[in-house]
Amino acid sequence: QSKGTGGNHYSFYVADMGAQSVEHLRMEGALQRALQRQEFLLHYQPVVDIATGNVSGVEALLRWKPHGRPMVAPSDFIPLAEETGLIVPIGEWVLETAMAQQVAWLRRGLPPVRVSVNLSARQFLGQDVAQRVAALLAKTGCDPRWLTLEITESVLMQNPAAAAETMARLANMGVQLAIDDFGTGYSSLASLKRFPIHSLKIDRSFVSDLTQDADDAAIVNAVIALAHSMKLNVIAEGVETSEQLAFLHEHGCDQMQGYCFSRPVEPQGIEALLRAAEAA
Ligand code: C2E
Ligand code: MG
Ligand code: MG
Ligand code: MG
Repeated sequence: QSKGTGGNHYSFYVADMGAQSVEHLRMEGALQRALQRQEFLLHYQPVVDIATGNVSGVEALLRWKPHGRPMVAPSDFIPLAEETGLIVPIGEWVLETAMAQQVAWLRRGLPPVRVSVNLSARQFLGQDVAQRVAALLAKTGCDPRWLTLEITESVLMQNPAAAAETMARLANMGVQLAIDDFGTGYSSLASLKRFPIHSLKIDRSFVSDLTQDADDAAIVNAVIALAHSMKLNVIAEGVETSEQLAFLHEHGCDQMQGYCFSRPVEPQGIEALLRAAEAA
């Protein structure tokens, strides 16, 4: 900001920066205390098998409900958590809670349900995530074969060698790995060949215009075909309409998540859904 635009303008700018960093600090403090105050919770979104309509799994999605304040969306606090390193203990809480939930559903007599957990860049690249996952599997009694870990394409490409090694360790434990938000980064499908990946999740941005935009339709089609040629399972994210679902069905997409089936819900909602499916 140039001082030439006038004294007032300049001081407004400074005041504004101050307000921004005060809010930033307040958020950071609140986020720091949130774990201890048990302000985090997980919602779960069903992952549906397109051919059969069965719920084949759920994705755990983090929510923050600060005391006396409305729910904060992940996009409004995960970047800050990532920046401050708080994502590591928070991510650890997410992993443990999702694993414990998986075990709890089983103990309540439900059929096994695959649980997917999102890993942040810092969690995946910065700490010994394979060792942490192993410790939490042992602590919770969760079966690794029913756990999927999601990482984004950009995380893979930040340090491909380290990522490949970590993924090999996780895959050897029986954990499945999925690439989240596929298509938003710059990696080609071919470059994914070196990683032990089980599923590819097509980013919501390609799905939303599928039935209007011929380019998006072509991209989705190509991703499904190539992924299948590499023996990868394909999941479409953010499916909102029956037209989108019909397109995905017709083009052989394996699974989907989206508001057209269910929003992310509390654990009890998933239990009700699974019981209804069993009774049907
Ligand atoms: P994601 O992993 O790609 O999760 C999918 C997001 O799409 C979720 O947003 C979900 O609520 C939303 N979604 C699902 N179906 C639809 C739909 O039909 N339409 C629309 N418009 N949206 C849909 P959410 O829960 O706000 O999470 C946003 C992102 O925050 C996630 O994207 C993930 O990157 C991150 N995140 C969430 N939980 C965690 C976590 O426990 N750890 C880490 N590291 N990141 C997380
Ligand atoms: Mg995800
Ligand atoms: Mg995604
Ligand atoms: Mg996303």
